[in-house]
This record gives sequence, C-alpha cells and structure tokens, in this order.
Amino acid sequence: MTESNGINGTYSNGNGNAVPVVIEAHNVLASSVPAKYFEKHPSKPHISSLAEYKALYKESLDSPDTFWGRMANELLTFSRPYTKVQHGGFEYGDSAWFLDGLLNASYNCVDRHAFADPDRIAIIYEADEEKDSRKISYGELLREVSKVAATLKSFGVTKGDTVAIYLPMIPEAIIALLAVVRLGAIHSVVFAGFSSGSLSDRVLDANSKVVITTDEGRRGGKDVSTKRIVDDALKNCPDVKHVLVYRRTGAGIPWTPGRDYWWHEETVKHRPYFPPVDVASEDPLFLLYTSGSTGKPKGVLHTTAGYLLGAAMTGKYVFDIHPGDIYFTAGDVGWITGHTYVLYAPLLLGVTTLVFEGTPAYPSFSRYWDIIEKYKATQFYVAPTALRLLKRAGDEFIHHDLSSVRTLGSVGEPIAPEIWNWYHEKIGKEEAHIVDTYWQTETGSNIITPLSGVTPTKPGSASLPFFGIEPAIIDPVSGEELFGNDVEGVLAIKRPWPSMARSVWNSHGRYLETYFHPYRGYYFTGDGAGRDHEGYYWIRGRVDDVVNVSGHRLSTAEIESALIQNSNVAEAAVVGTHDDLTGQAVNAFVVLRGDIEGNMVDMKKELILQVRKSIGPFAAPKNIIIVCDLPKTRSGKIMRRILRKVLAGEEDGLGDISTLANPSIVEEIIATVKALR
Ligand code: ATP
Ligand code: MG
Repeated sequence: MTESNGINGTYSNGNGNAVPVVIEAHNVLASSVPAKYFEKHPSKPHISSLAEYKALYKESLDSPDTFWGRMANELLTFSRPYTKVQHGGFEYGDSAWFLDGLLNASYNCVDRHAFADPDRIAIIYEADEEKDSRKISYGELLREVSKVAATLKSFGVTKGDTVAIYLPMIPEAIIALLAVVRLGAIHSVVFAGFSSGSLSDRVLDANSKVVITTDEGRRGGKDVSTKRIVDDALKNCPDVKHVLVYRRTGAGIPWTPGRDYWWHEETVKHRPYFPPVDVASEDPLFLLYTSGSTGKPKGVLHTTAGYLLGAAMTGKYVFDIHPGDIYFTAGDVGWITGHTYVLYAPLLLGVTTLVFEGTPAYPSFSRYWDIIEKYKATQFYVAPTALRLLKRAGDEFIHHDLSSVRTLGSVGEPIAPEIWNWYHEKIGKEEAHIVDTYWQTETGSNIITPLSGVTPTKPGSASLPFFGIEPAIIDPVSGEELFGNDVEGVLAIKRPWPSMARSVWNSHGRYLETYFHPYRGYYFTGDGAGRDHEGYYWIRGRVDDVVNVSGHRLSTAEIESALIQNSNVAEAAVVGTHDDLTGQAVNAFVVLRGDIEGNMVDMKKELILQVRKSIGPFAAPKNIIIVCDLPKTRSGKIMRRILRKVLAGEEDGLGDISTLANPSIVEEIIATVKALR
C-alpha cells in the first residue's frame, strides 16, 4: 500500500503502521570534497577515494580479525602483543578485544612521541584571558604526567582505583587524566560546571577516594568557585581522603588540612619520570557519566586498547590528521568529545591539541576564529549549539584568515542544513570539508561520519558508517530490521566494534537492558534515523523526541530545521502534546534573533507557513511559543523532555533541573506557557 502524504508518500510496514519514507529535501545529491581542500593539504588524505573507503569498509566487515589486527598494530604500541583480536558479543555484553595484550594509555599518548621528538608541541593552552596562554612540548608533558602520577601513587592510588576529576579546560586536566591512566587507574571526569550535588552523586557512584580540582576556574571573564563546590560535594563523601588542588587563579579558598594538597607543592617532590603501569587491553580506562538528557546518568565504562584504537583511527581517517597538524576541538574534557578528541585522538597521533579554557563569546563572538587564525589550526570541531549562537551573533564577527582549516567537524545534535551551509560558507569559505560526526558516549568514537577529504556530503546527513560499523534501521513497531534504502526507523548496530562501552559502572544489568534488550542481537542507540536512496544516514534525534501526528512519525529535528530556515529564528525546539484529533500536535518553541521586533501574530503565521511549505501541512505547528532561550544541558543540547512536561502542565514533575546550563529559563518558559492558556 502506498498513500500520498504530500511529500513523497508513506508506505505500510506490513502491520498497518505507516512509516514515513525519506522526505524530498533529502534527495539532494551529495557534493564532493571542495577542490581547494586538496590544494591546501600538506600531502594527500590518508584515503584516496570513496572507492578505497568502500573496499576498506568491506574488508572491516568481511575479515574483521585481519582488518582490526592490522589497524591496532599500526596505531598502538603494546608492551605485550595480543593473541586474539576479539571475543564475545552482545548477548552477554562480554565483547572483548585484543586479548592477552598489555599496554599503557599514557605511554601511547606521551612517551613514544617524547622519545622521538621531545620538543614537538603537544598542547597549546589558550587561556580565558589570552595573555595567560602557553605551550607544552611532549618532553615536558612526560615530566608533568610522571610527577602527578607519582603524587597520586603517594596518595595510595593503584591500578583499578577510580579518581574523580573536576577540572576546567586547562592543560592540567589533560595531565591529570594521563597521570591517572599511567598508574593503571580509572579516570572519572565530572564536568566542572556541575553542581555539588551532581559531583557528589558521581563521586559516590564511582567510589572515588581522590579528587583533583582547582582553586577556581575562569570562563568567559568570570571566576568559578571550583574548590568550594568540591568542598560542598565532599560533605557527603567521607571516603575521599585526598584532594589535589591546582592553583589556577590564586584566590583564597577553604582548606581542609590532611585532606587537601596543593598540586605545586606535591608534584615537586617527585622525580619527573614515572614508569607506566601495564594494563590488560580490556582493563578499564575510564568511566564517564552521560550528559543526562534522558534521565539518571549512567557511568559508561570504556576499556583500554579498543577505545584507544577507535580514537586513533577516527582521528586519522575522519579528521585526516597528519603530522604537524594543530587540532582544535572546542569541547570540554567533561564530555566524551573532550576525552576522545581533545585528548586521546590528537595525542595518540602525536600532533598538537588546542586546549581552550574560555567561551565562544568572550571577549567577543569572534573568539574561535581569533584562535584558529592565531595558531593556524588545521581541524576545528564544535557542536551545532555553538554554531547557532555564532550565526545569530552576526557575520561581522568573522573577518579572519581561516585558510589553515581543512576539516570542520560537527557533533552532539543533528545540524540543521541552514547552519551547515553557514559553517561551510562563512567559516570554511567553501574550501574546507565538513564532517558531521554521529556518535555517543557509549560508542567511544565517531561511528557514522564522512571521512575528511573522501566522503561526498549532504548538509544534515552524517553520511556513511565508519569502518567495522554495521548499522541497521529497525521498525520500532514490529522490531524487524528494514533492509535496503529509503527506510526510516530507529538506529541500531549489528556487531561489536573495538571502542564500544563495555558496561555501566557497577550495573552490568542496566547496560544489557538499555542497549541490548530492546532489540535482541543489536546495540540500540536510542536515536531515530533514516537511510536515503544512496545509503546515507540521517539522524533524526532521540526516539523519545519523535512526534506522531495522524500516524505520521515526524522528527523534531526536521521541523526545527524548517523553522531555522527563517532568518528571524535563532533556535527552535519542537515537542508533541496530546491531541484528541490527531493523536499528537506539534508545538514549536522559538527563540528569535536579538534585534527582531514587530507584530508577533504575523511572525507566528509566517513560521507556520514556513513549516507547511518545507515539510507539509500535517507538520504545521499548532502552537508557536516565542521564548528568550531554551533549556539546555551543560553540553548545549536542547532538553525537549522539560518542554514537553511544561506544556502538559506537569511543572511539578520536572525532576532535577540544576544540571541545566540555564535553569532559570525554565521558570520563564512556565510563565510564558501559562499566559497562553
Ligand atoms: P544521555 O544518554 O544521558 O541522555 P546524551 O545522549 O545527550 O545523554 P551523549 O553521549 O553526549 O549524551 O550524546 C549522544 C547523542 O547525541 C546521540 O545519541 C544523538 O542523539 C546525539 N548526536 C551526537 N552526534 C550527533 C550528530 N552528528 N547528529 C545527530 N545527533 C547526534
Ligand atoms: Mg545518550
């Protein structure tokens, strides 16, 4: 049965449930890598053509042991070689890689480069105030990491212990993580913007006995009382016996003698070489609590060799990192993006990573571009939320020579084509290659993504799977896999890959339940996705965010993209509410650009028309609610869950909103919605 829905039809999935097929807007042809990209390349991309990608991809699925074995031997240094490439699978959650191998992560990130070329710059630190910036060579990094490792050892930290890290984006954050793993211990980073309650929950859950922090942090010209927050959190954590404090601002802070130790006083006591402690490939490397967009955070556990291989391989092939590159990920080390792409990928590959302490808006909206120009960054990686902010600020802030940039990355949310095009034209000057990288805390590294210099792109599509990733689109109603192209459903992965999470800390049952029980035999991502007529993947966002109007499953991201096409709109968030007639109705929260005034009734009509035109009449919002800002996680993701509850009149059931980046906006939105009732 095929019935028309005004775009290009829905089709029946066999049990009477209509599933929309890929909409017209996605039938755009992929455009190839800009010619200028190759002109400014220092040599040539690691992969020469789409055909070479396809051949390697095929090999990664057909002969995984050969493929992964070769990659691991090329990119990692083991102190004892592995004897078996992989074991286990999804059923029991016992997937294991590079068995019998021994290695150390800090050796792989630091020592091997420090031995070869000690003066090479490992870290460029761009401080909140430009004048505080500095550079750290690989030789220096090895000495610093060694001293901190020795300090932690003197606190009693040994292999298998967890160490909580509550540090801002300063080089010492990288040094601290590397020092922890040098001992074979496990880092548990908590974003240094989280409240004391969130910090104590995580310290307790991970059973950490040592915390590393600063006196204060500095971001966007403001001081953050990091140590006070830690002190507050630790009132509930009697097992924490040592707090190591790096002096960042020199402010007066509360001090608990016998528990608190200054970084500069302790580290000088130790020898600047500390031998790395070998761990097994499958020993834990770190745990990281997911951002909590969908509920109680989980301590996602990653192990050593597989995770490191994913980081190194995606650094090499997705970002096309080459010797001499200056790699700039504008993400916080408190998130997975900071782990994999500020620290592990660039340092495993021995290039320079840029650690930026500040915000894109301080001292002005040109800060990212100032940094790229100043250091001639070759790759830049950021979340769409920052791009929306900067587009909204206006193009007068972009007047820089950004010609050093070859690759522009996007991560964390679907990127609206409007924003993609702006990134391509205004920042990339149509010379850089955009990689829209889809992945999760749980996947460890990029899993659906273009390869820089190789994959033709379509604005808004994460494109094709990375090596070894076998995606599946599943019909959420029947639970059956949908084969072929032009299909829509939920996104799952069919076989294990080296950098996938191995467990949820202290809760393997929750790991199995969350990821492997919803669809047996698959890893379930929790995201909706479509595969278009060319096999390109379009991530629709979380399955919970889908709106169902008269049997049409609409992705909120799609409707939001349509709204953003209107130049008056800075940001939009769409949620469904119950509707007697249609099942669910579309509601759009819209943030207008700062300078917009005039008749809001006309504006709302215009926006409804915009959606009708771009998607179809059935997608037209029933309500447009104009607000000053949207509720977001600290990593910048829109929390539609909260908007849904506010609209449903369930203000009392919002749960903990203290981890939001902007909790006060919730009150404002509640008031706006009430006024409309
Ligand atoms: P939680 O799991 O606690 O709810 P979270 O899912 O926001 O938090 P992350 O692991 O940081 O935590 O984010 C992964 C999610 O981000 C993906 O599942 C997807 O929804 C979204 N995402 C990441 N990259 C992309 C991308 N390139 N395009 C579309 N969505 C993306
Ligand atoms: Mg998630």
